[in-house]
Amino acid sequence: MKSRRTSPPDVPGKPGATHSVVAGVVGREVIESLRRERGDEDERAQAPLSFALIRRLLGFTGAYRRRMIGLFVTVALRGIQIPVLAWGVGAVINGPIARGDLRQLAWSVAAFTAFALFTELTFRYRIKWALEVGEAVIHDLRSAMFRHWLGLTMGYFNRQPVGRLISRLTGDAENVRVGVQNVLFVSLVCFCQMFGCAVLMAIEDWRLFLLVLGIAPIIWALNLFFRRRLSHAYRRQSDSFSRITATMAESVSGIRVTQSFSRERVNADLFRALVEDHARYNYTAARLGGTFLPLLELNGQLFMALLVVVGGGHVLDAENPMSLGSMIQFFFLAGLFFSPITILGNMFNEALTAMAGAERVFAILDTEPEWTDPPDAISPDRLDGRVELREVGFSYQPGRPVLHGVSFTAEAGQCVAIVGATGSGKSTVAGLIAKFYLPESGAVLIDGHDTRTLSSPWLHAHLGIVPQQNHLFAGSIYENIRVVKPGASREDVREALATLDCLETIEAIPEGLDAEVGERGSGLSLGQRQLICFARALIADPRILILDEATSAIDPLTEARTQKAMRLLMAGRTSFVLAHRLSTLRHADRVVVMGDGKVVEQGEPGELIERGGAFAELWGKAVG
Ligand code: ATP
Ligand code: MG
Repeated sequence: MKSRRTSPPDVPGKPGATHSVVAGVVGREVIESLRRERGDEDERAQAPLSFALIRRLLGFTGAYRRRMIGLFVTVALRGIQIPVLAWGVGAVINGPIARGDLRQLAWSVAAFTAFALFTELTFRYRIKWALEVGEAVIHDLRSAMFRHWLGLTMGYFNRQPVGRLISRLTGDAENVRVGVQNVLFVSLVCFCQMFGCAVLMAIEDWRLFLLVLGIAPIIWALNLFFRRRLSHAYRRQSDSFSRITATMAESVSGIRVTQSFSRERVNADLFRALVEDHARYNYTAARLGGTFLPLLELNGQLFMALLVVVGGGHVLDAENPMSLGSMIQFFFLAGLFFSPITILGNMFNEALTAMAGAERVFAILDTEPEWTDPPDAISPDRLDGRVELREVGFSYQPGRPVLHGVSFTAEAGQCVAIVGATGSGKSTVAGLIAKFYLPESGAVLIDGHDTRTLSSPWLHAHLGIVPQQNHLFAGSIYENIRVVKPGASREDVREALATLDCLETIEAIPEGLDAEVGERGSGLSLGQRQLICFARALIADPRILILDEATSAIDPLTEARTQKAMRLLMAGRTSFVLAHRLSTLRHADRVVVMGDGKVVEQGEPGELIERGGAFAELWGKAVG
């Protein structure tokens, strides 16, 4: 995002050589498809000015009313001070200098300096307060967005790529910040300054002023035309750069797969194509900048030349001559009248970008959760832990059902193993018991209460889930375990690990409990991560526990240790194990066999083996 604003017009290197490889191993289509995948296409970079949006944004400044009043005062002051300073120079030339009055000149210069100091002081507070207000607004907006996200249902996160959510919080919020901090106040100062200069110029020499007025729209239009094309080029530049960073991030996180499948060459080619693509955009932007910026400057200079000719004519006018001081004064004022035009052009552009950002940010704040707890949701005093699924039907996407009429019951304290082929719906059942989703038909009953009528926070306080892809936060092992119960002490954590009989295993890791865990648990083995997740679940002390076993195979020793920890964790709770390993099944009170979103068979493990059905077949294959 940054490059759009700071893009230097000059580009090093030899841009002529950049196109060759793009057509090589990885073609242009790949880049196009990357662009589509990242959703660049359907997101507009700019949106028209909308007063509803601006009003809503300004609503966020409500808490900073005094700052805002101060800001508007400094903005108005600046708009007056700048033209008055320019006017003052002419007044000194026309007055004391023309008369050769040294004493008055000294006083005038002192007054001028004092006024200049006052102007800069105003400027200081104008900037300081604008930065403070902008920062506060964006802080509130980001927090509001984050809070809002936490309240949304799983379905929303399934549909939104995480990269898109991140760019809402970073790029879009950043554009809005620029809008609030810069665009609004700088534009206001510019308008005030132009207005002040116009009034003073009209008083000074109205004929020259008419000339200025006639030329202003031409300069404005030329500016707009050049700036538009430039900003388009800068936008494409920053988009292609985002593609580079996204691809780079993906390659680094998938480096093992890349190396093990010898995809280095293909990936390197893809990357080179992207970099060359980026260089091309850089070059275009540089070329446009190199042409337009001098042209724009020339424009201003030609206009000044015109003013010198016409103004000079006025000075030489025999009947009603203009004083040299007045002409200089006029020149200053004209300069101050025109300089904001470029700035306003930029501001207008940034305002449109901020509008697009604000549109997307507010779209998030306006996203309603697909469902919420009813206002009279209940939080029973106690929970025994009987869980019943009654004819449950569910689909993630409309028209593509994943579960059909699933029914089974876990009595309080029982351990139920759910088995079945991959994709048969085991994790989905777990998500429904945990009320991450609501069933489409049928009902999930907990102690006889339909989960729809239960308070989600209450249910989540009594339910622990160790998901299939267990998640660790960046931080120490200790912090990762106590995250579910911030009051838990070090002793509690050690005790939990000891209960699971894995304290020694964890303490054997260098630095033990204080070992830093990287993003998503990097630096730890799969088994270690699992034990930490178990300890976390134990600290939470839930009545109902769901363990979604990781599919990856682990060595027999780790498996034995995990099994033991699991059994200790499940003791005395209603637990569901989404089992991939037969060793887990041995201790289950009940087994539910799933296939294609249906319950194929269920009963006690021994009974099922005797019956010789689907489970017996599974068992037979695994054992024999
Ligand atoms: P595994 O043994 O591999 O963990 P599973 O039995 O847990 O499989 P589920 O994750 O419940 O299977 O998936 C059941 C079906 O639902 C699959 O066909 C899957 O493609 C689909 N599915 C799962 N999650 C989603 C989702 N977030 N959006 C859309 N479809 C999904
Ligand atoms: Mg699963």
